Amino acid sequence: MPEFNLVTVITSTAQTVTAIVMAVLLLGFLRQYKKDYLRHWTLSWTALAAYYVTTSIGIALGVGYNVASSHPVRILTAILSGVFGYTNIAWLLFGIFELLRRRPVRIRVYWRTLGAVALFGVITALLFIGPDSVSSTRYFVRVGIRSLIASIAYLASSVAFWQVRKRRRGVGFTMFSAALLLYALQQAYQVGVSVGWRFFAQSAGTIYLGYIAFLLQAVTGMSMIACLLEDEREASELATVEMEHLAYHDALTGLPNRPLFMDRLIMSVAQASRSNQKLAVFFLDLDRFKDINDSLGHSTGDGLLKAVAERIHRCIREGDTVARLGGDEFTLLIPRIDHVEDAAKIAQKIIETLKIPFSILDHELFVTTSVGISVYPDDGTDPETLVRNADTAMYRAKDQGRDNYQLYTPAMNARALERLALENMLRKALSHRELVLYYQPVADMKTKNVVGVEALIRWRHPERGLISPAHFIPVAETSGLIIPIGEWVLRTACKQIKLWHKRIDPELTVAVNLSARQFQQPNFTEQIAEVLEETGLAPRYLELEITESSAMQNAENTIYTLRELKALGVRIAMDDFGTGYSSLSYLKRFPIDTLKLDQSFVRDITTDPSDAAIATAVIAMAHSLDLRVIGEGVETEEQFAFLLKQKCDYIQGYLFSPPQAVESLEAYLLERKAAVI
Ligand code: C2E
Ligand code: MG
Ligand code: MG
Repeated sequence: MPEFNLVTVITSTAQTVTAIVMAVLLLGFLRQYKKDYLRHWTLSWTALAAYYVTTSIGIALGVGYNVASSHPVRILTAILSGVFGYTNIAWLLFGIFELLRRRPVRIRVYWRTLGAVALFGVITALLFIGPDSVSSTRYFVRVGIRSLIASIAYLASSVAFWQVRKRRRGVGFTMFSAALLLYALQQAYQVGVSVGWRFFAQSAGTIYLGYIAFLLQAVTGMSMIACLLEDEREASELATVEMEHLAYHDALTGLPNRPLFMDRLIMSVAQASRSNQKLAVFFLDLDRFKDINDSLGHSTGDGLLKAVAERIHRCIREGDTVARLGGDEFTLLIPRIDHVEDAAKIAQKIIETLKIPFSILDHELFVTTSVGISVYPDDGTDPETLVRNADTAMYRAKDQGRDNYQLYTPAMNARALERLALENMLRKALSHRELVLYYQPVADMKTKNVVGVEALIRWRHPERGLISPAHFIPVAETSGLIIPIGEWVLRTACKQIKLWHKRIDPELTVAVNLSARQFQQPNFTEQIAEVLEETGLAPRYLELEITESSAMQNAENTIYTLRELKALGVRIAMDDFGTGYSSLSYLKRFPIDTLKLDQSFVRDITTDPSDAAIATAVIAMAHSLDLRVIGEGVETEEQFAFLLKQKCDYIQGYLFSPPQAVESLEAYLLERKAAVI
């Protein structure tokens, strides 16, 4: 069918050269941009060039030199042109797929498709080798079928480009779509020609479309380059947007970070000042988040933070900003409130919402939150002050027993200053010998004999009088002063009990309270061993009290240290039991000897049925784990009677004796001893 004349030779040469030029050009771009679709297109153009070359050689041999179609050279050219003809289409489509879908073709699909189309090309080439009389059939099978497939594929690609075009700026995609459509039409025409020739013997009157094919080829090439450039620009725009997002958002929760929060606060303050409006800043901190993180792992902690962020987000309106400052701290900006009460209502809503248990990685987590609120212009007129005061109010909420919100008041700043002053005075207290130990007896419930004492620290301040540990232990803990203070307590208590062994009772034990900070020192066990050695006290007379919540702060570490201490021979008590974030499974693993039932349960043990039930259950459970139980804060005979009935082992409380200074307790103990004798 194709005529072997000068025009054909020139156009097909031009087509071949264009294909080679395109392949080289795209190879250059591929080196530079490293896009997979460029690799496919480079291969596609290379295959097209090879297709033209092999086809032309075939035609030249057949028409020009009358070489029979069954001649091995003609069979070879037919096979090669079949393979190249089909792989050319496949590679073009792979490239289009990757450009439009933004993901690579799966490697198995890639090789299988290439293998299949190449094989198909070979098969169509090998069919109808033989007498040239069937050349119309052969032409139909070799060229017509390929054109049919190409036409359908190009049409589909054209539609795909057309749809994507709307989402992209620039002309590349539209141009590509148009070029593919024209290609599809051109190929459809080829189908028509081959069908006509094969079935109706109508070869006359067909128009030679070589020029158009050449033109289309050039347009396709340009579209490819236009698409590449537009794709690159879009990718770099996306990258910029992403980087901006990263710079102003928290990676874990996706919430705005501190810089973005402050930025919005600055704008909102300016706006509020212009319109004489109030705005509110919240500072939120999860209570005991560290316990969860330490005991259940960081992935649970992260999961919880994400879930918390989502819930807070659901409590606020559009226009409000919630940000994560880091750790478990969140801030909230409500750019317009009419009354301070509105802010309080929102805070209450958030606190309630966060109270609903979370289910994170198979753990059911109960979370409470402390919230501090400051309001513009009452509590500050610049962003820094507003945030700082909300933070101060949050600390106040923590001091008030957590799980609540506090509105900022100027007195809070006074309190913060007071804390600082206390810290400075405390630094000198130890060297000025202002710290003293009081001792409170622990008695056996059945015999009422004093079996031991608990050392409780006091601060005899020259001007302020006796300061309770509840006031200064937290300051000592945050400032790190608890380390030297704790060591002093330990040494003093051990010395004292050693003295009392001689003067009163050689079997008296002493209990010493520990802070988490002390307990987490790496050489803590050696420190205890040293003090025991120095004072000559046998380890079994020393009982160390750790609170439930400090034990849970780093549970695995706690278990390790407790084992070391047990090996030393000292006893361990779990203090304030029932108030912490405890897990019974851990309790079993902590090697403890004694449970101290917290006084908050003992207080209402005779009036509040649920406290009574808890106390009863704790005692029974402790006994089943082979632990002794001390009832704390026993003040009345009724409480005593109740605990006795529940078979509590020991008691400590005002009913028996308050904590006393050394001299008075000594007198008290000697008196009791005399009474017994
Ligand atoms: P804790 O270890 O639970 O000590 C028991 C507290 O209950 C003591 O308060 C004691 O005075 C008080 N208490 C005893 N009997 C009764 C009673 O019948 N009714 C009432 N309402 N209270 C009673 P204190 O001495 O104020 O100590 C408070 C907390 O300070 C202690 O609680 C302990 O956790 C901590 N603490 C005391 N001394 C030290 C110390 O040397 N080091 C450390 N790290 N903490 C200490
Ligand atoms: Mg205690
Ligand atoms: Mg206690």
